[in-house]
Amino acid sequence: LQLAIEQRTRFVWYDADVLRQVERLALIERTLPDAIKKRAIHVAYHPQIELKTGAIVGAEALARWDSDTHGKISPDEFIRIAEKSDQILWLSLSVLEQVIEQLLRWHDTSLSALTVSYNLSPRCLDAAIVDLLTETAETHPWITDRLVIELTESSDLLTYPTDLSQLETIARNGYRLSIDDFGTGYASFEAIWHLPIHEVKIDRMYVSGKAKDSLSFLRAVARFTREQRLVLVAEGIETKLELKRMIEEGVEIGQGYYFTEPLDAMTFTAWAEARIQKDETS
Ligand code: C2E
Ligand code: MG
Ligand code: MG
Ligand code: MG
Repeated sequence: LQLAIEQRTRFVWYDADVLRQVERLALIERTLPDAIKKRAIHVAYHPQIELKTGAIVGAEALARWDSDTHGKISPDEFIRIAEKSDQILWLSLSVLEQVIEQLLRWHDTSLSALTVSYNLSPRCLDAAIVDLLTETAETHPWITDRLVIELTESSDLLTYPTDLSQLETIARNGYRLSIDDFGTGYASFEAIWHLPIHEVKIDRMYVSGKAKDSLSFLRAVARFTREQRLVLVAEGIETKLELKRMIEEGVEIGQGYYFTEPLDAMTFTAWAEARIQKDETS
């Protein structure tokens, strides 16, 4: 009987958990449109560092949501939910607008040379994004050297009926294309390498050594990117040892908690200004 009761309680507990999870998802889904509209979903900036010199060269723009009801919600969660509907289009557009506004604010300051990388999921390749990028390239031609488009190397690029011509338009406007999380997806070399790729971001699995044969994969990618004259970026550098190893393997640019966590726009601006000033005076 004891056991039966225990199992029963456990069953009930488990049930309540599932229910809470379902309710949470429903609430996130319901509050998402308003959060996008009110810009409760904002952008954090994660510095990108030239590893050999320690100089800051740019930042990756990362969507953040500090919800009134749920506290911090991870982009992995709300982006997956947004991708289930066309909310992902509004979210992507809002993030892009915020990134462009930020680049305009940094123009003519000591941060004017920094690039900003923007994550574009293949599902968001709709006309509004392409149009905004095209218009911005026309009104502010310098911006195409500052804005990098990160494409995630997910199987989406293969299975989702991606219209590569939209990516070609973006590249033709002068924007740079980067392949994100390289080594985790099923990158169709066929599909992707038709595009004018500028940069490859190797996934942090290969930085931490968690992936099988990390080092030999990293070496192969480093050699490939060198020969193809692609920029190689390592993400998720957390320790001094990882930093040292990345430099030894010839990785040019890196990101990771070793330098700092992603920072809100104001904090990032101060962080980057201080770092640039230090470089100039040393
Ligand atoms: P991602 O583009 O690969 O971004 C890198 C993720 O790794 C970020 O997580 C970043 O905070 C985290 N990271 C950076 N350095 C380290 C480190 O040293 N150690 C560890 N453990 N993690 C590190 P975040 O911000 O949670 O973003 C997760 C993913 O959500 C992103 O992966 C990206 O795929 C997606 N995402 C974020 N913002 C956007 C967006 O605006 N649009 C789209 N479509 N996707 C976005
Ligand atoms: Mg990214
Ligand atoms: Mg990544
Ligand atoms: Mg990732």
